Amino acid sequence: MADDSSLIPEKPSVLQAFSGLSNDEMDILAQADRFAQAEMYPLAQRMDDEEWWPAQIFPKIGGTGYFGITAPESFGGSGMDVFTSGLILQAFGRWNHALALAWVAHENLCLHNILRNGSEAQKKKYLPAMCKGTSIGALGLTEPGAGSDALGSMRTTARREGDHYVLNGRKIYITNGPVADVLLVYAKTDKDAGAKGISAFIVEKDYPGFKVAQKLKKMGFRGSQTAELVFDDCRVPAENLVGIENNGVKVVMSGLDLERAMISPICLGIAERALQLSIDYAKQRKQFGKAIAEFQMIQAKLADMYVWVESMRLFTYQTLRAANVIDENEGGRGEIHKITAAGVMYVAETMNKVLNDAIQIHGGSGYIWESEVNRLYRSIKLLEIGAGTTEVRKMIIAGELLRA
Ligand SMILES: Cc1cc2nc3c(=O)[nH]c(=O)nc-3n(C[C@H](O)[C@H](O)[C@H](O)COP(=O)(O)OP(=O)(O)OC[C@H]3O[C@@H](n4cnc5c(N)ncnc54)[C@H](O)[C@@H]3O)c2cc1C
Repeated sequence: MADDSSLIPEKPSVLQAFSGLSNDEMDILAQADRFAQAEMYPLAQRMDDEEWWPAQIFPKIGGTGYFGITAPESFGGSGMDVFTSGLILQAFGRWNHALALAWVAHENLCLHNILRNGSEAQKKKYLPAMCKGTSIGALGLTEPGAGSDALGSMRTTARREGDHYVLNGRKIYITNGPVADVLLVYAKTDKDAGAKGISAFIVEKDYPGFKVAQKLKKMGFRGSQTAELVFDDCRVPAENLVGIENNGVKVVMSGLDLERAMISPICLGIAERALQLSIDYAKQRKQFGKAIAEFQMIQAKLADMYVWVESMRLFTYQTLRAANVIDENEGGRGEIHKITAAGVMYVAETMNKVLNDAIQIHGGSGYIWESEVNRLYRSIKLLEIGAGTTEVRKMIIAGELLRA
């Protein structure tokens, strides 16, 4: 990460005490914020306008030390924790949420998953370039016929042929899919064994039989690349099986808990930015001869938004702290399963309320596609759908509450 002396005073501020961040954590958040404002924010408008992918940004992020946050230094990482990753993501979410999504798909869904579940040889082979940002990662679970029921309805298969597995099937809505070099892909190795017949594989984009079928256009998070992928007799070396054959469900389920903990900071970053834009706009926009900030109904909205943002902060940070202490055998059930589903459900729904008021404060200007607050508003829905929909999150929470 950028070498930057601490700007944080010895005595914790009220905000620091409230958020529970240490001096080091405050520093990391501030540094990542400065990096994102300088390097990522200038790319946001064109990404949104054109679904454009700025190819130079991943090596830049990696070169600054913002990939491999949880990976040991021996693999080119920083040897830090999931909580720290979350703070970096929060900062990125403020300035360019599409890149924040691309970052989390690479860093958490792919890199961190390989780190948790891969063999030493796999880690040595794939992690250094991913930490540098010269190799882009993605994760392929969802299929055209398998969304919320990703495990039960999975159709992609992998059959062993000598020293290879042969993959057949399709994956859809895969973040980073069009630009990924390395993909963690789930497939059925035993079609009759349900969720107990799933395995995880590392697939390289140049393996024969792998193809990006189409790049998908989105209503929000535009510029983060999303694809449908095809595996047509795709030959994957047997040593690229991650973990044990037919034990992929463990990889998926623990990965999904971490994913839920890790997408919450994107919501927080977006909501913080929306509040700031709304305060700025309310101070400068004049009607009836006054700044609209002087009207009590506008002030009430700003006060509500502030309370919502701070409640999102607390839930996000506490969920990340919980995710910090799970080991590779945990996840997929129990407290962490419930807390991460609750955390992301709460922050995604609360972000919805923040953005709704942000647009209202901006009036007609907020309804115009090109405005920044409009770009933020169009991001709301994905956070209620990706990594398990709100309905699935409720099923998880209730399931854990009712478990005997
Ligand atoms: C932009 C984007 C990026 C994504 N990135 C990735 C990625 O990188 N990798 C990846 O693998 N996937 C990714 N996804 C897929 C995402 O995880 C799925 O879209 C999500 O899990 C929902 O699946 P579905 O879209 O098929 O909806 P469906 O499962 O078809 O659901 C449709 C509706 O039915 C509801 N529903 C379904 N079952 C139930 C039930 N039992 N009870 C009540 N309601 C129910 C759902 O909540 C939803 O409202 C991404 C999606 C998007 C849009």
